[in-house]
Amino acid sequence: MSLPLSSYLKTLPTYQPGRPIEEVARELGLAADSIIKVASNENPFGPSPLAVAALHKAIPGVNLYPDGNAFYLKQKLAAKLMVEPANLVLGNGSNEIIEFVSHALLGPDTNVVVSQYCFAIYPIVAKMSGASVITVPAKNYGHDLPAMLRAINERTRIVFVANPNNPTGTLAAREDLIKFVNEVPDDVLLVLDEAYIEFLDDPVDFVPLIRLGARKNLILMRTFSKIYGLAGVRIGYGIAEAGLISALEKIRQPFNANLLAQTAALAALDDDAHVHKTRSNNFGGLEFFAKALRSLKLEYVPSYANFILVRVGDGQRVFNDMQKLGVITRPMGGYQLPEWIRISIGTKQENERCLDALIKCL
Ligand code: PMP
Repeated sequence: MSLPLSSYLKTLPTYQPGRPIEEVARELGLAADSIIKVASNENPFGPSPLAVAALHKAIPGVNLYPDGNAFYLKQKLAAKLMVEPANLVLGNGSNEIIEFVSHALLGPDTNVVVSQYCFAIYPIVAKMSGASVITVPAKNYGHDLPAMLRAINERTRIVFVANPNNPTGTLAAREDLIKFVNEVPDDVLLVLDEAYIEFLDDPVDFVPLIRLGARKNLILMRTFSKIYGLAGVRIGYGIAEAGLISALEKIRQPFNANLLAQTAALAALDDDAHVHKTRSNNFGGLEFFAKALRSLKLEYVPSYANFILVRVGDGQRVFNDMQKLGVITRPMGGYQLPEWIRISIGTKQENERCLDALIKCL
């Protein structure tokens, strides 16, 4: 007799992360230090050095549970964002916030609205909750916000928008996004995923809407995984009206933001130099790839994040061949983009090596 597993699991895909360096090294018999990973939009300069120093100091204390309410981290984030700590919920990565909102709002007979080419976790988590997914065709690889608004029906509970979007790197036009935020019905939660916001030159700031209590159906999601280089410790956060946050706090496991994650995030918030260096390297890297891809006559999607989507023909084949040269990118078949690969922006040297490998494999 087999276990009566949830019927949702039958059709649910397993999320395919970027391949770890050690796994590729083992499989291909390459030295791990000869491989570069430009597959998961991580920080090419490593973690914030201030976070590393704080982590060293914190290690002897890991026999104790962390502060379940993350007092100091919430205080510091709240001061930086000029909101109250009660407007913040921490997640084991911002991925966990997606689970919180799904637990809070979804179930059978409900649906979520997403865009074609949206971040893969949204539909996975929605389906896991028994909800159905309305996927709105993309426009120029980005969100068609008016069409997403029209797609909302009486069973819609959540709309997910990532801005910039992953995996396409697209950015919604300012006016369109503001209009959208104001027009999503009050009984539908808008999850505005700002995982890559720190890479933007002049982002639209929606925090005042939370500060003023103007949009109770809006949650902004951010992460320490990208600009702060802390993907491995897993910490992200949501910013929303206090009533919604207190509901999400009931769903959160007591110590989901672990001691090292809290420590690293707290220190990283002071590391303006690391953020600045990462941002300016990223602008340079995006320009480097855009220029090179134009001259190679390869189609790409102009990106506002720390990665770039490139049309290479057979994405899986190019991914495999580049991997043999020690460059791990991300094939996009799982996103219904089989002709594309996604390349994360690396250091100058990594970008050059990646481009060189791409040219060799084409
Ligand atoms: N949202 C988007 C759009 C992402 O690209 C990612 C990371 N790939 C996440 C959320 C989750 O990031 P984390 O859980 O590491 O905070």
